[in-house]
Parts: sequence; structure tokens; C-alpha cells
Amino acid sequence: MNIDSIQNGVVIDHITAGSGMKLYDLLGLDKLDCSVAIIKNVHSGKMGKKDIIKIDADIPIDFDVIGYVDPGVTLDFIKDGVRVDKKNVDLPEKLKGVIKCHNPRCITSTEQELPHVFKLTDREKKIYRCIYCETKANI
Ligand code: ZN
Repeated sequence: MNIDSIQNGVVIDHITAGSGMKLYDLLGLDKLDCSVAIIKNVHSGKMGKKDIIKIDADIPIDFDVIGYVDPGVTLDFIKDGVRVDKKNVDLPEKLKGVIKCHNPRCITSTEQELPHVFKLTDREKKIYRCIYCETKANI
């Protein structure tokens, strides 16, 4: 795949160097049929080094996951080879179904059908707590 010629898809840019793989896993990109490229340690004037992910398909993106892993990321949406939209992500207030609560006494470990929901309780320190038992998420 020629990574510079995405026709319809998404470019996840300005990823902190080293976070590309984590984002790839959490977004479930390994399950996609289309071409996905992770480019690591790209030289960036602003950041020194960055990672970039290019997805050669118009897929729905979970912005909460991206904001959680790396709130400085930008997204470029490509249609017919042209960038049609750009989006910045931020730390989400709530995370649903992204990370799991590890407290064995939490209601989510007995009630399997309950969604794992975490709430941002400290934006500066990036602390998320389970909404059921208040256990801190380990990132
Ligand atoms: Zn919990």
C-alpha cells in the first residue's frame, strides 16, 4: 500500500511517539480487513517525534479511546484523496467499554452484562475511576 495515497479513510496524526501500537490495539484495528499503516518515530517540528496511523477505509472511529490514550492527537478525514475534515480530540469525560475494572469485588465482575464505565475525576492527572466502585483505572 502506498501510505501517502489514501483515497477514503482516516489519518490519525500527532500521536505521541510510542503510543501508536497501544492505540492500534485499543481501537481494534487488527480486526479490520483494510490496509492499516503505523508509521513510528516520524520527525515532527512541533513534537520532535510522533507516530501516525493511516487507515485506508471509512470506518467509525471511537474518539473516546483516542482521547484517553493520547489527548493531543488530530484526525484527518480523507475522501477521494482530499482532506475533507479535521478533528482534535480531548480527554473524554466518560469511558464506556474501553478499559475494564480490575476490582474483584466490583459489581461488573459478577454482573457480566454491565458495561465497564469510567469517569474522569482529575483532568490534570488524567485519573479515571470506575463509576460503580470508584477503583482507579491503571493506564
Ligand atoms: Zn469497579
